[in-house]
This record gives sequence, structure tokens and C-alpha cells, in this order.
Amino acid sequence: MSALPFFPPDLFDHDRDLLLETVRRIGTDPAQKFILGERTAAFEAALRAETGAADVVACGSGTGALGLVLRAMDIGPGDEVVVPALGCAPLAASVVNAGATPVFADVHPWTMVVEPYEVEAAIGDETAAIMPAHMFSVMADMPTLSALADRHQVRLVEDSAVAQGGVLAGVPAGRWGDAGVYSFVQVKTFGTVGEGGAVVTDDVELAATVRMLRNHGQDGRTRFVHHLVGQNSRFDEILADYQLHRLPGLAERLERRARIADFYTERFADLADRGVQAPPPGRDGRCFYVYCLLAERRDELRHHLAQRGVGTHVYYPTPLPLQPAFAQYARGGRCWPHAELASARMLALPIYPHLTDAQVEHVADSVVAFCGGTR
Ligand SMILES: *Cc1c(COP(=O)(O)O)cnc(C)c1O
Repeated sequence: MSALPFFPPDLFDHDRDLLLETVRRIGTDPAQKFILGERTAAFEAALRAETGAADVVACGSGTGALGLVLRAMDIGPGDEVVVPALGCAPLAASVVNAGATPVFADVHPWTMVVEPYEVEAAIGDETAAIMPAHMFSVMADMPTLSALADRHQVRLVEDSAVAQGGVLAGVPAGRWGDAGVYSFVQVKTFGTVGEGGAVVTDDVELAATVRMLRNHGQDGRTRFVHHLVGQNSRFDEILADYQLHRLPGLAERLERRARIADFYTERFADLADRGVQAPPPGRDGRCFYVYCLLAERRDELRHHLAQRGVGTHVYYPTPLPLQPAFAQYARGGRCWPHAELASARMLALPIYPHLTDAQVEHVADSVVAFCGGTR
């Protein structure tokens, strides 16, 4: 079997002609409008229809979306935001960049999403918001976190950057929070051939503020009147058109990912007592952005798979509070043992939709073989 890279170089091959045609059409359109035009508006309308949200605002990136939401919620100096101890840098950086302070909460040892009781323990007088994130393939416990936000009167920001298309208890990822965010960077479930993100919300006033903030505080009607101190987090017309065309295929690509995950999880079911734990089975509240194992001998497993041509990836080798950039916020005698253990054990396997059945079997066989099993 030929090498199976973790990040496939041919993710967009199928839609290459579409992309070239889109570039030509928009590039030669007499309007010569390349950002925040009618295609961006149509893309936002399509995502509104898809999610049922009152408004969707496309912006420059998922990180941009988080920052815009925090700004629109008026979160800044003196405020604290509770974020997961395990996850990507924007979770903490967006809070710091807003002038607020991140407070890290530990995660569940198996699902790796933030633990609601750890979030609750981190809530104090200065807490303005809690910001759980869906991780790898599991959506955070949004019913509990949503009740928690209500009880403590704090805002709920849902980082759904990796879970677009996931549904928990009938509610799409992005719809649980006061606002949710999506990311369209290449590797995400609705990734594209560049950068992009979106804010999803039922709060139309918040959306209107985000809309202004993404374009230097202008209201979209009168140019050079700046109602707010905004930023540049605008959206590209070529990507809007391309994503509009790819949106109808998203459900099918996610279904293929979920079927691969089902297969892996079934094959790995009895490896737990041999040091390799598959993610929790099921479909509700799952979105297979990444399929992440927890392996006691992670680095050996990684080497074993590499020798069989299977590329893997370690998301995230270091918990956020242990990162040099965020260490100054890791105070108060808190510790994050589950995040630390997970970052030492996690290993992500290839799960992109165009893997063939034979490739999926090869990956599964290789993991099982590592644990001393046979086909
Ligand atoms: C990718 C990601 C982001 C940031 O999205 P970008 O589009 O890369 O800026 C934020 N949060 C999480 C959980 C992510 O995985």
C-alpha cells in the first residue's frame, strides 16, 4: 500500500475545475468586487438556512470570528473568560487579544472536551463568559454548559470551529452558544482553499455589531463613517462562491468521515485494555474533524504506523496553560492533569472522506497489529 499522508495533498482535487471556473468568472466580472459582495451575502444566507440561525456573519478566519464575538460582547480588560486547558491557541489568544484574562479549565480524560464542573469551579466575580470548544470528534457538553451560563449569568461563546455539520440533541454545532464560530481553514470539516470563518448567532444585535467590527466599524451603508473601532476581518468573494458550491456536499463528506470512524471504533473496541483507547462511539454530538486515539505508548505507535506508511498527527502536544505564551495566566494553584495526560497520549489517524475502504482497513489493521492482534 502506498504512503497515506495525514494531511492529504489532494483534498480539493475533485473541485479543482470548479475553483478555476470560479476564479475566472469573478476575476472577469465587470463589477470587480472581491470582498464582502453579493456572493458573501449569498453564502451567509445559505449558512443561515443550513443552521437555522437568525444571522451568520462571514469573516476573515475562525480566530477572527472569536475575537469579533468577544469584542461585540464588550469583553475586555478586567474580564475573565473560562476556556479549555487543552485546545488550539486561538482559544486563549483571542481572550488575551481582547484585553481579558483566560482562565483554564481541565478536560474530560476520554472525550477531551472541557469538563462542566471544572468550568463551574473556574467561574468567579470577574467571569464575563465561558468559551467551551468542540474537540477532535466530540462536541462539548453544551446542555450542561448552557444551563451553567444561565445560572451564573455569563455569556456562552461556542467554539465550533472544528464541528461545523455536527448536531447534538437536535441542535447544530454553533447554535448552542450566544454565538458560535466556524473556521474554513483548509483542514476543518468545511475547509476551503484559503482562510475564512463565520460567526453564527440568534442575537441580531450582536450580529450587527460583529458585521460592523469586521469592516472597521462601518455600517455597510455610509463609507468612512466609523461607528466602532473595528478591524479588518472581511470575507473573500471567490471563496464565498466556491464554498456555496461545496456546501451541498458537506453532509455526504461528513457521513463518509463518520462511517470511517465507526469502522475504526469497532475494530479498536477491545484494545482499551492493551493501551489504546478509541474515542467514544456513537453519532449524536459527534463530528469527525479528526479521529483521535489515546495511546499509552503513543510515540511507539506513531513510529509503528509511520513504518507502515500511515501518517499521523499529534494535536496538541502541550496544554494551553503550559505554553510559554499563556503561562502567566496559569495561576492560582490550578492544575490540569487530564489535559496533560491527553496531550502525552493523543494520536490522530487519517480520516478524510476520500480514503478508500482498503486504506481505512490498512490503518485499522496497523493499529491492531501494534497491540499484538492480528486481522
Ligand atoms: C482552527 C480553530 C480555530 C481557529 O480557526 P482559524 O480559521 O484557523 O483562525 C479556533 N478554534 C478551534 C477549536 C480551532 O480548531
